Amino acid sequence: MAKRKKSDLRDRILELLKNTEVHPTAAWVFDRLRTEFPRVAVGTVYRNLNILVSEGLIKNISFNEPIERYDGNLSEHYHFICEECGSIRDINVPPLKTLENRIEKLLDADVTHHRIDFYGVCPTCKKKRKQS
Ligand SMILES: [Zn+2]
Ligand SMILES: [Zn+2]
Repeated sequence: MAKRKKSDLRDRILELLKNTEVHPTAAWVFDRLRTEFPRVAVGTVYRNLNILVSEGLIKNISFNEPIERYDGNLSEHYHFICEECGSIRDINVPPLKTLENRIEKLLDADVTHHRIDFYGVCPTCKKKRKQS
């Protein structure tokens, strides 16, 4: 087998991020690339994730948590975070542009984007609650 270049690893990380909706951590990505890149350390994965963030190819979406989460979906969207299992899912409603306009007027500033995070209990955890 030919020796894999560093850029191969980054390409695979990007591909993984583009094909998942779990908003993974570096550890999740590391786990999935372990067999393919047996000599790669979790720190390397983390570094490559942050390079992809700085290149604007993925987003870092941290929710006041010590562990960083990443998103391959670059479209403007909101998130729902389950406070019990920590899962993050996309909410596909149109972005509130009228709110942005109001804030622009209120502050006399240029608003480039905004984010709204919703917190609560996801359907899976709700079911578990009922069972116990
Ligand atoms: Zn949950
Ligand atoms: Zn997302």
